[in-house]
Formats: sequence, structure tokens, C-alpha cells
Amino acid sequence: MAVRAGREFLAIPGPTTMPDEVLQAMHRPALDIYSETMVQMTDSLLRDLGRLFATKGHAYIYIANGHGAWEAVLSNVLSRGDKILVLESGRFALNWGHAASAMGVEVEVLKGDTRRAVRPADVEARLRQDKDGRIKAIVVVQVDTASGVFNDIAAIGRAIKAAKHDALFMVDAVASLGCMPFEMDAWGIDVAMSGSQKGLMAPPGLGFVAANDRAREVHKTAGLRTPYWDWTEREGPEHYRKYAGTAPVHLLFALRQAFDMLFDEGLDNIFLRHRLLAEAVRRAVAVWAEGQVLSFNIEDPAERSNTVTTVRMSEGYDPARLQTYCKDKCGVVLGTGIGDLSGRAFRIAHMGHVNAPMILGTLGVIDVALAALGIPHGSGGTNAAIDWLGHNVPA
Ligand SMILES: *Cc1c(COP(=O)(O)O)cnc(C)c1O
Repeated sequence: MAVRAGREFLAIPGPTTMPDEVLQAMHRPALDIYSETMVQMTDSLLRDLGRLFATKGHAYIYIANGHGAWEAVLSNVLSRGDKILVLESGRFALNWGHAASAMGVEVEVLKGDTRRAVRPADVEARLRQDKDGRIKAIVVVQVDTASGVFNDIAAIGRAIKAAKHDALFMVDAVASLGCMPFEMDAWGIDVAMSGSQKGLMAPPGLGFVAANDRAREVHKTAGLRTPYWDWTEREGPEHYRKYAGTAPVHLLFALRQAFDMLFDEGLDNIFLRHRLLAEAVRRAVAVWAEGQVLSFNIEDPAERSNTVTTVRMSEGYDPARLQTYCKDKCGVVLGTGIGDLSGRAFRIAHMGHVNAPMILGTLGVIDVALAALGIPHGSGGTNAAIDWLGHNVPA
């Protein structure tokens, strides 16, 4: 017996649910990649990426996922033997560091852990010790999608400034751009990157990078540059060069539609919607946690992301059973615990094209699963989410 007919709902942190309008935007024949339509579309997308990153710097669109965009960033500003500082707060910054290592860059990890955000004071202290400026770049994520942490990028930017260090500040906004405020120029970020398939509601396959003038100056002498990723190659007037080859026509139509929808809703509304729905999820998890089996991975409530919530399960309880029930019986796909949290946590994504019924439905299904599987939990989790929205979404 199952109650899962109809459309399966993805509550995983990427790829996320795409609006029907975005899917439909791709349903068309290919067109001449040299046509005026394509040239103008690229110009409009690059301009809108600048708006999303909040920068006057240059934007670049790669046919790549987030891992590709990481490599794009590293190869454009670093040389073999350069050293970078990776700010740990889960999995993703470490993985960016692994890519750097494999490219011949020396990587130092500023120790953190999977249960809390990066501490800006630690960053400042480490940079003050680097008297001869060996550290060429600092890399960090705004949201770590594994741990569910939210790092205060503005505060880290201030810490770098306070240490008077001139390493490039490079930020991963894959799991946050278009969901939470991001202010590249105002926060002192030199290079930012993101991808199409999370908060931006578009298909997987596009990677985005933005770089300011300081980064583009460093780029001139970077030794790791390769033709495909190279910024200079992509900066000329020739449209074909902007993608180092054939433009990903259909993905660009999808992205254009997604951006139109983001700007129609308005970024401030979107940020508020994410905050309200994230808090609804947290209200539910807090009630379930009273059963002493489920708990928040991120201990400090102020450090919990508005795009994904990582929920731990105590020893002896298998998150995979819960996930399997939700998927096979009810048609809701939850995210798996990854890295250190593999087999010990599940994740509820609340990013991108999400609304109240999607979130309340997901929470309701988890409530059903907890009951059906006899997992101890505080009762009324979904109700707490409903109450929260009832009080905070005014008539
Ligand atoms: C998903 C994700 C990535 C990797 O993106 P892919 O498109 O899967 O390569 C990088 N950083 C963060 C924070 C992510 O959430």
C-alpha cells in the first residue's frame, strides 16, 4: 500500500524543483548561435548575474556544474605552488580545496567542524600570522549544503580587512544565491561562484562566476589558466568566445525564464519567503526533537541556513529507512546525509521554487513516516510549522 501517485516531490538540495515555465522555455528548436537573439540573451543574462551577485565586476557563464565553476575560479587566479586558506564548516569548502590541491595548489585548512559556522575571529588571527603574505586566496561557502550551516560572509570580509591581508576573498554561493542576500561588492568579495540548479530554479549544467577588477588583475599572471575556463578568452566582443564554443542554447532559455521569474517576484520577497519557510521547517524539527532521536546538526540557531536543514538521528536509528518510507510510500524525496553525516542524518531542502504547500506537505509526510516507523518524536511538528506561518504571513 502506498499513497504516492502523482508527481514525486524533490526536497533535496539540488537539483531542485523547476517551475513549469522554465521547463517549457526549453521546448523549442535550436537557433543560430550567432543570431541577434542569442547575443542579446547572453548580454541580458550576464547583466542579471551581476544583479544577483550584487557586483559591478565581470560575470561569466560556463557549461559546467558547481565543481566546474570551482575549477574556473581556481584556474583563473592561481599558479602552481600558490597557497590558499580553506575555511572549514562542513564538506563543500573542503572539496573546493581538494580540487585546488589536485591542481598543484598548496592548501591549508582553517579547522572548523560540521556543527557550526566559520568564526571570523579565527580567520583574522590566522591571517595576522601570515606576515609575508603567502596566502593568495581564502575560500569559503556561504551555505554548506551538507552541514546546513550559514556563514556570515560580511563578517568574514570584515575580518580579512581588519587583518590588512590582501589575499583574494572567494565565496561559493551555490546553495544560497537567489535565496538569501548576497552582496559581492559591499562584503569585499573578489570572486564569487554559483550554479544553475539550486536556488536559481534552472536545470543543472550552468556554472556562474563573477570577478572584480582586483581578481582580474591577479588573473593576468595566473599560471593555471587553460583555454576553456580563461576569463580573457571570454571577455572579447565575439559571442562564440563567451562560451568558448557553442552556446548552451536551451539551458540559456531556461535560465532567462528563471531570472524573469526571480525579478518578477522581487529579491526581497524571495529572501523573506525563504526565511519564513525555513523557520517553518525549524519549528517542526524543534518539536520532533523533543523525542530525543532527531536533532539539529547546527547547534546555534543563528547559524542555520534558510535553504537547507540537516537533521541528525541518534545512534540505532537509520535515516535511510525514513527516507525510503517518505519516497516509496508518499512520493517525497528527502536529502541524504553526506560526508561525516552519512548514515546519521537526512536533509530537508527549502530552496528555490518552493511554497507553503510544498513545505507543509514535506513536513506532513515526515510526520507520517515518524509515526509509521515508530521513531520517537515530539508530536505536532507540522502543526508548529502551520502555526508559525499563520502568525507570520499576515492577511
Ligand atoms: C551543490 C553544491 C556544490 C557543487 O555543485 P555541483 O553542481 O553538484 O557540482 C558546491 N558548493 C555548494 C555549496 C553546493 O551546495
